[in-house]
Amino acid sequence: MSSIADNIGSVTRRIQKATLLAGRQPGAVHLLAVSKTRPPEDLREAFAAGQRAFGENYLQEALEKIEALADLEGIEWHFIGPIQSNKTRQVASAFSWVHSVDRLKIARRLSEQRDQSLPPLNICLQVNINEEDSKSGSRITELPELAAAIGELPNLELRGLMAIPDPDQPEADLRASFRKLANTLKRLKTDYPDAGPLDTLSMGMSGDLELAIAEGATWVRVGTAVFGKRPVKS
Ligand SMILES: *Cc1c(COP(=O)(O)O)cnc(C)c1O
Repeated sequence: MSSIADNIGSVTRRIQKATLLAGRQPGAVHLLAVSKTRPPEDLREAFAAGQRAFGENYLQEALEKIEALADLEGIEWHFIGPIQSNKTRQVASAFSWVHSVDRLKIARRLSEQRDQSLPPLNICLQVNINEEDSKSGSRITELPELAAAIGELPNLELRGLMAIPDPDQPEADLRASFRKLANTLKRLKTDYPDAGPLDTLSMGMSGDLELAIAEGATWVRVGTAVFGKRPVKS
């Protein structure tokens, strides 16, 4: 079995190769290690191998790990799961990034509850890119209004868009979904230049990060390829 450090090495090489092939700047794509269901020791091992950014989906589990790993200086926490409005206070205080904002109510609460002594919370709007009924994320048509309103909120920095396209689509469709997200970000940036930096595309996972990078991903969210197969949740 390969170690977490070995896995980070191979994922990093995959990212570098895809970045080069896409003709993009070295370092343009960041690795978010998705650590849901992993014990703190696994994150410690990844940290020792140089990994700093970790993505968590479940708030209670994340808060326990954040506390257990408080001694790791420079660790950076990203929330990537669904957010309930009664949990925004903890998200606003414990994380540097939230990739999964999909409605204004949540954004307003995060801004109100973000401690003034902290830097603004980095936000991505989650987009339901394939317009699946069951998926969270806002529709593309709702984004302009959302972006304009979030741009006015003092303690948030609107960094860009996030999507989880259906991984079971044919490769060409998957790639088209990533391209659609990239084009949507470009359009928002043109139409709402003051809404925020809008410099971020959070897309691509273990199985499809090369396709996402080819279409402009700046954060790839990788779980399985870093930590191994997740235990099945009971
Ligand atoms: C679990 C998860 C990932 C990582 O998926 P892998 O296929 O294990 O790389 C990425 N993004 C989100 C939102 C996730 O929930």
